[in-house]
Amino acid sequence: MKYIGAHVSAAGGVQNAPLNAHRIKATAFALFTKNQRQWHAAALTKEAIDSFKENCSRYGYTPDRILAHDSYLINLGHPEKSALEKSRAAFVDELLRCSQLGLTTLNFHPGSHLQKGKAMTDTSITKCLKTISDSLNLALDKTKGVTAVIENTAGQGTNVGFSFEQIAQMIQGVEDKERIGVCIDTCHAFSAGYDLKSARGFEDTWRQFDDIIGFQYLRGMHLNDTKKAYASRVDRHESLGKGNLGMDVFRRIMVSPQWDNIPLILETPDNTLWAGEIALLRQCKHLD
Ligand SMILES: [Zn+2]
Ligand SMILES: [Zn+2]
Repeated sequence: MKYIGAHVSAAGGVQNAPLNAHRIKATAFALFTKNQRQWHAAALTKEAIDSFKENCSRYGYTPDRILAHDSYLINLGHPEKSALEKSRAAFVDELLRCSQLGLTTLNFHPGSHLQKGKAMTDTSITKCLKTISDSLNLALDKTKGVTAVIENTAGQGTNVGFSFEQIAQMIQGVEDKERIGVCIDTCHAFSAGYDLKSARGFEDTWRQFDDIIGFQYLRGMHLNDTKKAYASRVDRHESLGKGNLGMDVFRRIMVSPQWDNIPLILETPDNTLWAGEIALLRQCKHLD
């Protein structure tokens, strides 16, 4: 079964996210459990937690249909000690918030090595990937029941995690393989140089994904079209079918059982189109 939804607003409290998802007829959703642009947030109240769980159960949003997303400020691969400590502590807090809400997956952007110009080498990437694995080991050790889900990046700036090899390397460094997963963002993959647009490119990309990472790690997808060109390494989401990817990639995903039973999440820029985009995805029965 396909679980389709969007990254909905949790403004006014996390308990509003399932209501916002239900309003657009989503069968899955993503949310931030705190303001994504701030380091600190008030602890979740018992009322908010209870009301979140009640709203989720009313509309059938079991934990396998919900993908939490962490704050944009966190960099688990930060090269400086104090900044790294701050990110690690914030990530543990994010995992704890998920666990309070009964959620089982937390999607995060792996990190950035922050070395510019001459300082930027393959070694900076390798070092950053290792720091991220270490951060994950520390965080998973301090928490229970929540899987950390690595999102592939477009490779913009000094972001790491734009190739399947880099993602595999991070996974390799994580001790508890049961609590590590992957979320592939179609916009990021295309911008990073994976041709999901052509039939052949699509097949080839997913064969590589299975060989290098393995489908058993796939815990969610972000379905986004892109404003930017193939291999541009720039991350700019676009509404489905309105960008350089086009609809074929989404049709191929919708008709294949490979993408059953994981959250398929829209992060497209125009939220007034989400209900229509979800309906459109549901109508994808065949390739034409
Ligand atoms: Zn993301
Ligand atoms: Zn994404």
